Amino acid sequence: MEMNIAIVGAGAAAVGLLDALAATAGRPGAITVFEPSPHLWRGRPYGPDLDTVLVNTPPAIMSIRHLDFGHYATWLGARGTAHLDERLGQPLVPRALYGEYLAHTAEAALATLREDGWRVRIVTARVTGMARSTATTWSLRTEDGQGYEAGHVALCVGGGTPQDLYGLGGAPGFVDDPYPLARTLDRIPSGSDIAVIGSGLTAVDVVVSLAARGHTGPITLLSRSGVLPHVWQRPVGHRPQHVTAERVAALHRRHGVVTLDDLIALLRAELAEAGEDFDAFVAELLATETEDPVRRLRAQLAAVDDSRIGRRVLQETAHSVGPYAWRLLPQPDRLRLGQHFRTATSLASPMVPVNAATVMRLLDSGQLTVTAGVRKIEAADGVFRVYGDAGDRTSDVVVNAVNPPQGAIPRQAGQLVTALLADGSAALHPAGGLLPADPRLHVVGDLAGGGSFITSSIAGIAAQAARVAQAIVTDQD
Ligand SMILES: Cc1cc2nc3c(=O)[nH]c(=O)nc-3n(C[C@H](O)[C@H](O)[C@H](O)COP(=O)(O)OP(=O)(O)OC[C@H]3O[C@@H](n4cnc5c(N)ncnc54)[C@H](O)[C@@H]3O)c2cc1C
Repeated sequence: MEMNIAIVGAGAAAVGLLDALAATAGRPGAITVFEPSPHLWRGRPYGPDLDTVLVNTPPAIMSIRHLDFGHYATWLGARGTAHLDERLGQPLVPRALYGEYLAHTAEAALATLREDGWRVRIVTARVTGMARSTATTWSLRTEDGQGYEAGHVALCVGGGTPQDLYGLGGAPGFVDDPYPLARTLDRIPSGSDIAVIGSGLTAVDVVVSLAARGHTGPITLLSRSGVLPHVWQRPVGHRPQHVTAERVAALHRRHGVVTLDDLIALLRAELAEAGEDFDAFVAELLATETEDPVRRLRAQLAAVDDSRIGRRVLQETAHSVGPYAWRLLPQPDRLRLGQHFRTATSLASPMVPVNAATVMRLLDSGQLTVTAGVRKIEAADGVFRVYGDAGDRTSDVVVNAVNPPQGAIPRQAGQLVTALLADGSAALHPAGGLLPADPRLHVVGDLAGGGSFITSSIAGIAAQAARVAQAIVTDQD
């Protein structure tokens, strides 16, 4: 029977999947991509926005082609020259420009597939339901009531949007979802007192973009922990020798299980070989949640050129080996690691030095402050009252920059997921996300259940997409 693939959502995950399908070839069939947004292939992060909204990651790990570390850098070529982060020694471009790379890669994949005889079409509509119509066929429904059939379905619907933790939705001056910043920051008067809920990468995007627009009022990052993202260090070209998927697979084969202590031993070996002090490294990491965030940021900015590999190895392998190792960890070890959630997120999703320098400058000038221990925020009398461990204060504007919980169901995919659960075609994973109960249903991206507790990166999504392409093509053989 002819292969018929439906791809729901056209963001980075769909691009990785199409690129991998084009490379894997197989017998030609039909592909239908469903996407309601006019900004095809860009998904939530990489659509048009301010030039200050930058990619958060160096080029070598922004390739949407799994294991081809130069794919994005080659496309970027001379375009990167204008966007060099001098501290990092790497180009860090506006996310909208990265979106052009995704669009280019998708168009190239579609052209290859068509040359190979595939029929590919894009349907500009949201998928609202699907169910098995026969043992090997799915029927999908879009919001306009149209029906479609497919043999394999890949859900590439992204992750959630920020939750409204303090019930501020609808209050004047509350920005519930900050992206695109070009739209949301435009409405904020330049002298206003702004509270940003969250202190992660989205909060950094907000602060840096406000600064670039000449905001003069005070800005406060409010969070429960007060932990800022770590700062990327200059790449040194070190390839991990011990913390590798091969070593983790070998441990799994030998013992039938991989423990957190096994992973720690691999990291210890990696550092020992480089002559680095493992215990000092761990002590430094564990201070993430207790040390003053401003002192920590200053130290990290000073360490961008520090050639020690410890942090670099963890940052890279959290995304490359982490998701695989996570699945093999016993539950008690997952819980143990989960206790360090803030440290892990701060480490695995660092900010780029050019942004760190802006944040540091604003902290030094006193315009920006970081406040931990927020308990409650209320909208009253046209302002926001913030209640926290350090006392109460008011703000004119509140920008919601919290991370959605891992495995959250994206709003746009709510009806679709409900239909899949009702049909028994998928189940919710207890830790979030969706687990397909059918070998012809696939999930690429943050909705994939059973994944690690850190947000997917482009590198992680590319690896997942390659695995799903392989599974689809193998089923065809
Ligand atoms: C703000 C932000 C910045 C990031 N920056 C980086 C970075 O610099 N480096 C990095 O490695 N990672 C980064 N990430 C992580 C990762 O790269 C992105 O999350 C990535 O874009 C995820 O791609 P995706 O295709 O899974 O999801 P998305 O990009 O969210 O795309 C999902 C698409 O599915 C569509 N969709 C949803 N529901 C339906 C439906 N029912 N029917 C049809 N279509 C549907 C949506 O319209 C959307 O276009 C960032 C994430 C965010 C949120």
